[in-house]
Amino acid sequence: MFEIINIKYKQIYKLIMIRRQGIIIDIQYVQGDCIFTRINKVTKQYDYLTEDINTDVIIVGGGVTGAILGYYFTKNNINAVILEKSRIAHGSTSITTSLLQYELDSNALELKSYTSIDNVIKSYKLGLKALNEIEEFINEYGNACDFKRVDSFLYTAKNLEIKEMEEEYEIRKEGGLDVEFINKENNPFSLDVKAGVSSKAGGAHFDPYKYTHALLDVSTKKGLKVYENTEVIKIQYNEDGVIAETVYGHKVKGKILIVATGYNTTLFTKRNLGIKTTTFNIATKPLNNIEDIYKNTVIRDNEDPYNYLRTTDDNRIIIGGEDINFLPDIFNEELCNKSYEKLEQRLKSMFPSLDIGIEYKYCGAFASTQDNLGFLGKDPKNKKLWYCLGYGANGILFAILGGMMLSKLYLGEVDKDLELFKIDRFD
Ligand SMILES: Cc1cc2nc3c(=O)[nH]c(=O)nc-3n(C[C@H](O)[C@H](O)[C@H](O)COP(=O)(O)OP(=O)(O)OC[C@H]3O[C@@H](n4cnc5c(N)ncnc54)[C@H](O)[C@@H]3O)c2cc1C
Repeated sequence: MFEIINIKYKQIYKLIMIRRQGIIIDIQYVQGDCIFTRINKVTKQYDYLTEDINTDVIIVGGGVTGAILGYYFTKNNINAVILEKSRIAHGSTSITTSLLQYELDSNALELKSYTSIDNVIKSYKLGLKALNEIEEFINEYGNACDFKRVDSFLYTAKNLEIKEMEEEYEIRKEGGLDVEFINKENNPFSLDVKAGVSSKAGGAHFDPYKYTHALLDVSTKKGLKVYENTEVIKIQYNEDGVIAETVYGHKVKGKILIVATGYNTTLFTKRNLGIKTTTFNIATKPLNNIEDIYKNTVIRDNEDPYNYLRTTDDNRIIIGGEDINFLPDIFNEELCNKSYEKLEQRLKSMFPSLDIGIEYKYCGAFASTQDNLGFLGKDPKNKKLWYCLGYGANGILFAILGGMMLSKLYLGEVDKDLELFKIDRFD
């Protein structure tokens, strides 16, 4: 039953998304059999908006970022509304690997031309802070999203890159992070490791669909309003605040509007935010004995583009990577299959002793920035327009930081770390 609904939904989604009255209004951002929306039943559906309403904060986008914002604003007793044009957690959130790591996409020295090493260390520490925040949420409200705190491991299988790993290790160690240098002699993995940096409790993973719904369950009980199938099509700013008009003509009045629409921001700004690529994931069938091989760790290699791996509660491995420049046609099966094939071969070569079968393959848009950080804060020219865009591989952790810092900012408390995520930092 669920299978049929899902396939039907996918087709409808594809048709609606591309054109309205002959004008391209959107791009399909997600394609394939997304593991998390396949394995989960729809836990809860929210009504669409049928009247004009008032609030303080309008959050546009009901992915994991919108839900995180909703949670922090409500926690701080601020009235907020989430408007989602399709269904909760069915955008990028349905395909995120949800491999949470404190480290950034690139190594510290690679980022030197865009930011300082001090800022990289600061970002690493903010990543750890965000991981702790998620853990605190789980401790307070229960683990309804298969959350697991694990170590994180960055490694190379190339002799040529041993020095790079040593430098990364030294920088992190000097920065006060809990790291261990791994080489051929002390390698605990069955992987071919020439050198690597292991970080104690530097990572985590969870089910993003369940996590998004868990946040909304908690927040709606405290007053957050959520509307699905409610697309915002027009925004007006005035002296008092902002009005978001929805596709059925209803108006939501607020004091500020926060863009939490993921990789699609064209309705709100002409700014070209982030460098767009497409990234691919495959998920295996449940496997035997992976904990022995995997050692409770999230793993990233040092390839370019790199591969990243995590396990799931039911003993699957999800591997991602093979990024290609945006915008390839993600309905082009041949093109996508090439990337899926490469990922499968990579996984099999990493774990030759495992009997690996692939069950899910999916891909979607991805955005990164030169300094690997997302965009959090006010538009430089419009103080009623705010952004929470978790661009980069740490999108979910940046959204947590956004939720924490933007809800405080709304109450007048400026966190100096917001500087790192400023919207106009590349102008
Ligand atoms: C393959 C892949 C793997 C990734 N892996 C990781 C990872 O391991 N770790 C990590 O931290 N991050 C990862 N990311 C990044 C991560 O997916 C994103 O940071 C996160 O899922 C984005 O969530 P979001 O809520 O910002 O966006 P989305 O989930 O895309 O949500 C945005 C929502 O806004 C809605 N929307 C858009 N326009 C409107 C409108 N006009 N009106 C109303 N609603 C609107 C959309 O329908 C959508 O539901 C990955 C991304 C991809 C693509």
